[in-house]
Amino acid sequence: MMVLTRKMIEIRSILQKVGQTGVLQLPSIVVIGSQSSGKSSVLEAIVGHEFLPKGSNMVTRRPIELTLINTPDSPIEYGEFPALGLGRISDFTQIQRTLTDLNLAVPEADCVSDDPIQLNIYSPTVPDLSLIDLPGYIQISAHDQPEELKGKIAALCDKYIQAPNVILAISAADVDLANSTALRASRRVDPRGERTIGVITKMDLVDPERGSTILRDRNYPLRLGYVGVVCRTPSSKLGFLGSKNVNISNAISKNENAYFGAHPEFAAPDSQLTVGTQNLRKKLMTVLEQTMALSLQSTSDAIHQELEEATYEFKVQYNDRPLTAETYLAESLDKFKHSFKNFTEHFGRPQVRQLLKHELDQKVLDLLASRYWNKPLGEDKSRSRLDERPLSELPNADSESLFWHRRLDASTSSLTKLGVGRLATNVVANALTQHMDRLVSESTFKEHPFAKQAIQEATNAILNERFYSTSDQVENCIKPFKFEIEVDDREWAQSRENAQRLLKEELKACEEALKNMKTTIGGKKLGQVMTFVDKIRQGEHADVKEGTEAFGFSQALLQKGREGVFLRDRADLIKMRLMALKSKQCANLANKYHCPEIFMDVVAEKLTSTAVLFLNVELLSEFYYNFPRELDNRLGRHLSIQQVEAFAREDPKIRKHIDLQKRKELLELALEKMESLMALEKSKKQAQGTA
Ligand code: GDP
Repeated sequence: MMVLTRKMIEIRSILQKVGQTGVLQLPSIVVIGSQSSGKSSVLEAIVGHEFLPKGSNMVTRRPIELTLINTPDSPIEYGEFPALGLGRISDFTQIQRTLTDLNLAVPEADCVSDDPIQLNIYSPTVPDLSLIDLPGYIQISAHDQPEELKGKIAALCDKYIQAPNVILAISAADVDLANSTALRASRRVDPRGERTIGVITKMDLVDPERGSTILRDRNYPLRLGYVGVVCRTPSSKLGFLGSKNVNISNAISKNENAYFGAHPEFAAPDSQLTVGTQNLRKKLMTVLEQTMALSLQSTSDAIHQELEEATYEFKVQYNDRPLTAETYLAESLDKFKHSFKNFTEHFGRPQVRQLLKHELDQKVLDLLASRYWNKPLGEDKSRSRLDERPLSELPNADSESLFWHRRLDASTSSLTKLGVGRLATNVVANALTQHMDRLVSESTFKEHPFAKQAIQEATNAILNERFYSTSDQVENCIKPFKFEIEVDDREWAQSRENAQRLLKEELKACEEALKNMKTTIGGKKLGQVMTFVDKIRQGEHADVKEGTEAFGFSQALLQKGREGVFLRDRADLIKMRLMALKSKQCANLANKYHCPEIFMDVVAEKLTSTAVLFLNVELLSEFYYNFPRELDNRLGRHLSIQQVEAFAREDPKIRKHIDLQKRKELLELALEKMESLMALEKSKKQAQGTA
């Protein structure tokens, strides 16, 4: 049993995950040969399946790192491309297709690429081996192949045939060995023939005597020797094996045995020649095992060195703080829930109340404007409807005046019937959504589009689910106010203050807007155009139409003038109403028809208080209860390992941290395996010594 190779292959697969750093490469058998030398046939004979790309156009353009793993306990044969994550492929024609595709993906202009394809093959009939198949040397570039291709292939092969790799140099028996490109290349890097195995293919194409002479080559003697093979695959091309998935190694061996057995040059007990693919396999196993044993110390040193660097970096950069995708997600979730909890404590009934009241205040202002304030201030010639009364009449109006009674009732009814349920629910839902966005932007999740989306979706899901029932409930509960509004003295006094505050704010806004216009247009110019607009309104310049220029005032300036006049008039009107509200008349609840601003505020207050009660129960509390659960559903236990990993890797800083930690762990694992392997080898040697 070749324990060492097997264990080293295991370590190699760990090191592959660490990332190719060159220093961590373990010795492999590198297969080189000219095109058509029979290189593919040899590899396929070893594997027992046709799986390499075939075709007249140069099909091997990338190195194939082929790892063979012996699985004595399982009859199933399959391949795996670890870097592609395609899973097990037990159809070898599919492996062949995949390899062809991967090779053809190298652009024609680049000819070859040194990015290796990793392929593992598991089978009870393969030995544990790691082989690297390289593009075949070409002699003369074909018309459709660029001239530099020849050089590029040679350079790629040179890179791989360096020590400590073993070179498997393939040459065909029917070509003079002196002309073998493979042997010449290997001679350059291994002049004393210490780590080269010569494979002579197509032994059946030369007569046995010449064949046996080749295997005894004295010109380039190899310590590991020459092996003669007849590898022409009795393949599907010949039709007698049927499916490509049938293992062909036996058939090849039989064929070889028949050939070599029939010729005393090879078969004689004293021939001392190595022939046949079975013997080649054995030789490869032994040689690789020995090479691996020799490289144990240097590989272990290299891993050690890498590990030290990774450990140091981990300490310096991350203060040895362990981090995995799972713990990162769990920590982020905890932190987010904590900030959410904190938010819920600061966003409750009082805040909702304030939001909603503000919204209704704006509606009250709109209604006051449309039903009271936009009515002419004084006697106006353009007034046509008889039932219109100027607002200036209101303070002195008869308290039984049907006109002002109707006006207030209509305004109140507009307020109670504007769809308070929907409006209130919307205001709170929007506020919650905005707050959630803010919480995300202040959290670690801000770097994670996936989590951001999950939180948005969780928020929307709960709010959407509650929206209609909440808005219906609120609407139902404010229903009584649509019919009757009872006011007491305390409420009236409170609303009198509120209304004054509201009007003062509005006044301030008007005055500020007017001031801004003055600064941008210039006080004098604005004054002139406003005087002009006033004149128009008083009936002068009847020919001046809106949207045209007149008397040297541009259309835009005239528009500004109209805005200025509007703001000035609105400010005057509000000042007048503020005086009214301050007057004794408005101190008395009995005069409600004279003080619509106060009464409207009473209504807005009542609507707010009632709505808040239900919003708190139906929307806020529900949201606060459900959100953490919904979050767990979307970002917690239901994510797959891959999703958690993908989530954590979205943040480049976290990705670096996790990668370094993983690298460190893998190196530790590799080193541990390496050390136990070395201990095993040592005890084996000691046992051999004492035996
Ligand atoms: P590669 O280009 O070096 O990979 O060569 P292939 O393995 O594709 O072989 C080239 C040709 O030689 C194919 O037609 C094979 O069938 C044939 N071939 C390979 N090995 C032998 C052999 O041992 N004997 C004979 N007669 N033909 C062989």
